[in-house]
Amino acid sequence: MSHVMNTYARLPIAFVRGQGVWLWDEAGRKYLDAIAGIAVSTLGHNHPRLVRAIAEQAARVIHTSNLFEIPLQEQAADRIAAITGLDEVFFCNSGLEANECAIKIARKYGHDRGVAEPAIVVMEKAFHGRSLATLSATGSRKVQAGFEPLVQGFVRVPLNDLDAVRQVAERNRNVVAVFVEPIQGEGGINVSRLEYLRGLKEVCDRNEWLFLADEIQCGLGRTGKWFVYQHAGILPDVVPLAKGLGSGVPVGACVAGGRAKGVLKTGNHGSTFGGNPLAMCAVVTTLDTMREEDLLGNARRVGDAIRGGLAAALAGVAGVVEVRGMGLMIGVELDRPCTEIVRLALAAGLVVNVTVDSVIRILPPLVIGEAEGRQVVEILAPIVRNFLAQADSQPRAAAAR
Ligand code: PLP
Repeated sequence: MSHVMNTYARLPIAFVRGQGVWLWDEAGRKYLDAIAGIAVSTLGHNHPRLVRAIAEQAARVIHTSNLFEIPLQEQAADRIAAITGLDEVFFCNSGLEANECAIKIARKYGHDRGVAEPAIVVMEKAFHGRSLATLSATGSRKVQAGFEPLVQGFVRVPLNDLDAVRQVAERNRNVVAVFVEPIQGEGGINVSRLEYLRGLKEVCDRNEWLFLADEIQCGLGRTGKWFVYQHAGILPDVVPLAKGLGSGVPVGACVAGGRAKGVLKTGNHGSTFGGNPLAMCAVVTTLDTMREEDLLGNARRVGDAIRGGLAAALAGVAGVVEVRGMGLMIGVELDRPCTEIVRLALAAGLVVNVTVDSVIRILPPLVIGEAEGRQVVEILAPIVRNFLAQADSQPRAAAAR
């Protein structure tokens, strides 16, 4: 009997070694990693620069606590301020912690302005984490069920529906912020229209609300710019980050600027591990390597090639609803549940994921090369075609969709 709590439905494979975009299992089988530990392994596996930097840092000092100054935290914050365009960074250890901090900033901003019960506009199908506040902000009953009572103070609207947000603005005087995942990852690679993001920003400015952009999955170079909001030419007030920030070393960050700058003050928030020297070394090395290896340009080029390749290979195939995404954040939506594709791909040496039952998700390390990108298409497209051609894979009933 395993003593690990049974909270995950794990696949029966253990990866024991990695190199670049490749993984090896215990039996020595080789796999092309097109999921990067769910958008985490930015630099791929065993990147020599990251391995050397964190080994050297571990030998110097791993943890000292926020009772003391941490020079590497300053260096990491400077870099994050430069790439986000914002001013101040709170370091934590995960995505949900970054989002908790964002929610606390929004509530404190409200209280500072005399709103006793501040509310935040959140989106259907969004995923913000599994703490009580972040699962309450999440737009999925599956994530929330069994954990009621939910945290109050969230008003939900559909993504890409600006009128819905405008109506909330007219009706609800308690609203102090909008919280959006510019490309919803867990929710099925749902891309916000850029005019929608610009419109949201206008509504926020007009009402003096905070604009919170959860870029935990979609941000940090994956779409070809540092952040999705930069494609829209806007600047949020709060940007929670995690996942790819330390290229596998656990680290989160909540970045604030604009109307959110200075809202949290000494004593308002904290984290024992947050911003420790080991994690900060991983952040500095990851960001510097991304810049020096032009991984944003790579994400754009290889991402476009994979998305274009899949769209061409699956064009006209009955059962394929859409190939969508941006850069190296790609979804292939089918008209039926398709979690089986994960096993079929593994058997063919490719690691992908399926979210919301029917969207195949591709999130490779940003170091993926053009030839490896072609391999993703060459392996995945026939698997999808064969899967859809099977007699026992049926489209969902129209009523259930
Ligand atoms: N926000 C987004 C957009 C995510 O995709 C995730 C994780 O999938 C989270 C928040 C939560 O991050 P973590 O699992 O590190 O708590």
